[in-house]
Amino acid sequence: MLLEVNDFGLYCKQADVYIDPWRPVKRALITHGHADHMRWGNQYYLVHKDTVPVLKVRIGADVNFESVSYGEVKIINGVKFSYHPAGHILGSSQIRCEYKGEIWVVTGDYKLHNDGLSPEFEPVQCHHFVTESTFGLPIYEFKSPLLIFDDIKNYWAENQKNKENTIILCYSLGKAQSILNQIDENTDNVFLHGAVANLNESFREVGYNFVGERITGAHNKDHFDKSLIIAPPSVLGSAWMRKFGNYKVAFCSGWMQLRGAKNRKGVDKGFVFSDHCDFSSLNNAVKMSGAEHVYVTHGYETQYAQWLRESMGLDAQIMKTLYSDEEMMQEEGKETLE
Ligand SMILES: [Zn+2]
Ligand SMILES: [Zn+2]
Repeated sequence: MLLEVNDFGLYCKQADVYIDPWRPVKRALITHGHADHMRWGNQYYLVHKDTVPVLKVRIGADVNFESVSYGEVKIINGVKFSYHPAGHILGSSQIRCEYKGEIWVVTGDYKLHNDGLSPEFEPVQCHHFVTESTFGLPIYEFKSPLLIFDDIKNYWAENQKNKENTIILCYSLGKAQSILNQIDENTDNVFLHGAVANLNESFREVGYNFVGERITGAHNKDHFDKSLIIAPPSVLGSAWMRKFGNYKVAFCSGWMQLRGAKNRKGVDKGFVFSDHCDFSSLNNAVKMSGAEHVYVTHGYETQYAQWLRESMGLDAQIMKTLYSDEEMMQEEGKETLE
């Protein structure tokens, strides 16, 4: 087996590297910048070039790293590694590993829907496919994010008619940028929580410019007039929200499909918007990989592995990892990004 899980993470013995290790190791290949996949303390990081800004913000500017572009091949002790678009967030990658004709693909987190910003998911043929299963039940069926962005813009316009500000709560890394990417660059009525502003500024280094003004201690109610405010869910119920006077607040999460905004305290509206695959996207990705062996990680791994065995006739098994459910963490205000 080219890859196997041990106490530190997903290990490639032949190359002596780990993919998204959860304990510090010598060499780490990282699928993307979210905190549970890219952890602190490794001696060396290999990341996609668009993950570099996040690596510097989160892990440190003096960290030892190398970056690659999509499709570029890096050979380590005879094993060919390459990164391919995962469609999850900027820089997110599936990592392909090949040795003596055996090919593995580790998806990290991914989605098939186009969000207009992250390069679209690229199907990569392999024998062994490692997939997440955050929304791996048939009840999860997501609309295209591009339609959700229209809903968000309409919501903002509606609130403007009522002379209210609009606060959108979403993950600072990923959803925040894809929403901002849809807003006209000349709009001057968009404001950002510091966590979002920090990431946006770092992305400038790799050529991305997002609209929005950083909210500082100097801002008060007078600065906001029918504005759009983008912030992480952790601000919900905090004193920070008092700055905005009259406002409506909405939450973006795949979990909104299950529970809806009404059952979530303190928000007026929910947008069903996720950076992960819904159920049919997972199935499509598995089919497109052509893999006979599928390893199901974080999410509904028991149910989804069973589904793959019984309905698709695949050799599917659970792969126990220590990645968390990002969307659930955000909902609970435990976004560990900063
Ligand atoms: Zn992620
Ligand atoms: Zn994940």
